[in-house]
Amino acid sequence: STDSSDEVTKSRLAAEAQKKYGNPPPTIFSKIINKTIPADIIYEDEKSLAFRDVNPQGPVHFLVIPKTLIPRISLVADDDTELLGHLLVVASKVAKKEGLTKGYRLVINDGPLGAQSVYHLHIHVIGGRQMGWPPG
Ligand code: C5P
Repeated sequence: STDSSDEVTKSRLAAEAQKKYGNPPPTIFSKIINKTIPADIIYEDEKSLAFRDVNPQGPVHFLVIPKTLIPRISLVADDDTELLGHLLVVASKVAKKEGLTKGYRLVINDGPLGAQSVYHLHIHVIGGRQMGWPPG
């Protein structure tokens, strides 16, 4: 398992790579999309994928990602509007299928201060326990 300082380090390295390479480099999520590495996929359609997080932060923790590589939420464009809406609808439907009837938390981490570690846009869906506020 990873502690939070590892996460912050990974986040910083990923952000530096992104700055350096301009064109978004593929991440491990591209390999999950291509099925070249295994993941516990719980939903898939032509535009999106949902799979269980390998380091779950609650009894239920899955990620919803676009199949196209948008590196981070701060880089979205006007023509991503429909896709982003689709990802939220998928998050809601899969949360329901996972039995999260009493509520859950959606999170999108962006960039170094947001502690983003994988630069392929993803919506975290975390549930099955009481959440606190503010988040860490
Ligand atoms: O928002 P952030 O970029 O920090 O989140 C990345 C998430 O991707 C982490 O929660 C991590 O556990 C998850 N992950 C995964 N499978 C991988 C690599 C990372 O579920 N192969």
